[in-house]
Amino acid sequence: MTSIFISSLNCPSCGEVSSFERYDRIDVSKTPQFRTSLIDWELFKFTCSHCGHQIIIDYPTLYVDEENKVIIQYLPSNCSDLGSVSSIKKVAVELDISKYKYRVVTNLEDFVEKVQIFSEGMDDKAIEFMKYLKSPNEDEDIMFSYEHMVFTKEGSVAYQFMFINQKEAVASLNISRELYLESLEEVAEAGDSEYVIDNGWAERFACQG
Ligand SMILES: [Zn+2]
Repeated sequence: MTSIFISSLNCPSCGEVSSFERYDRIDVSKTPQFRTSLIDWELFKFTCSHCGHQIIIDYPTLYVDEENKVIIQYLPSNCSDLGSVSSIKKVAVELDISKYKYRVVTNLEDFVEKVQIFSEGMDDKAIEFMKYLKSPNEDEDIMFSYEHMVFTKEGSVAYQFMFINQKEAVASLNISRELYLESLEEVAEAGDSEYVIDNGWAERFACQG
């Protein structure tokens, strides 16, 4: 089940104390409204009750999706209070985790991206492999520079990769169903022993093949 933990925070703008709800474990099958608030980053937004100032509070949490059979452990790289982390071991008592995909992510953007991919019933390995295939080469002289690509849903049926540079989307690329299915076939042989599925994984996978 979803577990809430109320903490109090000093507003960085006015200095007054407000309460902030943290979710140490998010069970989206039981609390499906959290899926949207996570994808919109609302779940991590702190609003000062005195002056209305808003900031993102990064904290570790465990995301469990029984429907899509996935568990995502979010461990922000800047986080120091790892003592409070809900671990997969606790989940293993209630669920048959051998049937689940398990992922570890260390930044909020990656976390939200994974939630979105799995909520669509899609495969994150296929997505990372597609990013690898679709990332423009240096000699393709694209008209923009970017740091990384992020999977997003556009409207109710279309998917895109957004090219992100300094936290802003500078371009986008539509994802075709055909290419997704091809990538899915490619990554089928990859096995499921790795927890960190990112661009590094995709590069290693591409080099093996
Ligand atoms: Zn304030």
